[in-house]
Amino acid sequence: MSTINGGISFWYATDGIPTPREPLPGDATADVVIVGGGYTGLWTAYYLKKAAPFLNITVLESRFCGYGASGRNGGWLYNGIAGRDRYAKLHGQESAVRLQQAMNDTVDEVVRVAAEESIDADIHQGGVLEVACTPSQLGRLKAFHAAETAFGEKDRILLGARETADRIRVSGAVGSTWTPHGARIHPVKLLKGLAAAVEALGVTVYESTPVTEIRPRHAVTPYGTVRAPYILRCTEGFTASLKGQRRSWLPMNSSMIATEPLGPEMWEAIGWAGRETLGDMAHAYMYAQRTADDRIALGGRGVPYRFGSRTDNDGRTQASTVEALRELLVRFFPQLAGVRVSHAWSGVLGVPRDWCASVTLDRTTGLGWAGGYVGSGVATANLAARTLRDLVRQDSGQAGGTSLTALPWVNHEVRRWEPEPLRWLGVQGMYAAYRAADRRERLGHGAATDRIAVLADRIAGRH
Ligand SMILES: Cc1cc2nc3c(=O)[nH]c(=O)nc-3n(C[C@H](O)[C@H](O)[C@H](O)COP(=O)(O)OP(=O)(O)OC[C@H]3O[C@@H](n4cnc5c(N)ncnc54)[C@H](O)[C@@H]3O)c2cc1C
Repeated sequence: MSTINGGISFWYATDGIPTPREPLPGDATADVVIVGGGYTGLWTAYYLKKAAPFLNITVLESRFCGYGASGRNGGWLYNGIAGRDRYAKLHGQESAVRLQQAMNDTVDEVVRVAAEESIDADIHQGGVLEVACTPSQLGRLKAFHAAETAFGEKDRILLGARETADRIRVSGAVGSTWTPHGARIHPVKLLKGLAAAVEALGVTVYESTPVTEIRPRHAVTPYGTVRAPYILRCTEGFTASLKGQRRSWLPMNSSMIATEPLGPEMWEAIGWAGRETLGDMAHAYMYAQRTADDRIALGGRGVPYRFGSRTDNDGRTQASTVEALRELLVRFFPQLAGVRVSHAWSGVLGVPRDWCASVTLDRTTGLGWAGGYVGSGVATANLAARTLRDLVRQDSGQAGGTSLTALPWVNHEVRRWEPEPLRWLGVQGMYAAYRAADRRERLGHGAATDRIAVLADRIAGRH
């Protein structure tokens, strides 16, 4: 049997793609409008309605809840947050440590709410294992480990080659770092459970309802306009398609493959009994999980960006990307050379020009937004949502500021991306440089990071 490519993602394979809820029936009013039914939008609706049940909250989703990255991701619920190091430089180390601590707590918060709402999302709290396979990767791994420890992660451990193999036998792995602040999840099971919980609380969710324009106090759709004092934009990788937003967060592609279920003899050879989420220290890094039904789902960059900020066609990815991810899988686990890749898909995540996630509420217009998570959005969306809740409640006089509204990523301003073709050329060039650096590091013996990658990072504005 051949690989199923697209169909949104493998995570829809069991239950199929859902029939959308009803669209907006006509002009309407609300207290809060949320644009986008992914984790950011749904968590925001959840926490706001819980805190203030009297609020009339409407979610407007262009396709169906979970159509975007929240229904396609690698299922790493973990404590990484894009931009922390820059926030440390801008606001001080202590402030960034608070942000990191909030992220550590967020992993537990998602697990707690899932249990409270009886959402079975195949959650397994096995932590995150990141491996190094070259001398340069090992150098970066040790530096990364030291930096995370300095941000308060005293429970993180550094593992040698043998200890790494005791957990997962990745071919050529010479070391790893493990943190307990991570869990493997089934992205769509979490999403669907959350959408049901939100509706049960009394939030109105309209699907097949694209918002064509956001103005202060107005969300415009082909079916009517919803007026509300607060309009919260939760569209992450799709943001560039909204009027006036073409050069804000760049839609970066990420692609994934899933193998067929692997038998006990394969798992005997691989290990991975702890079901940690697994990543590496390459510049064009990979991320993987062992699924509840014993497949490996593995992702990486593929074609990073489409000209003009276009997004994919219902998750289809290029044949060359499927092949590249398959080669990566076999490089990690040579015994899987004959294994069938059952599914392949892709999605978009949002990348701000300075690579920093942020959450904002403009108090003069009532417009808010959260995102730019740069591929670390599964847990971050939950922290962003609780922060949007607190910002709306503070602004409307329902409550004062909180520890979350004081975090350094709140109301962070970022410049826009360059116009095309510079944007396209820049991103293509950056990933070509990363791939070249990864190749050179695999052949080289030094512990230093390849200078092509250092230069690409600097030009891209990442460090
Ligand atoms: C392949 C892939 C793998 C990833 N793996 C991980 C991972 O393992 N761990 C991790 O932490 N992060 C991962 N990420 C990132 C993470 O999934 C996202 O950052 C996160 O899901 C973003 O959630 P969101 O709700 O902000 O956006 P989305 O989930 O993209 O939701 C946005 C929603 O808005 C809707 N929408 C768009 N435009 C409009 C409009 N005009 N009107 C109305 N609705 C609109 C879309 O249909 C969509 O449902 C991955 C991303 C991808 C693509």
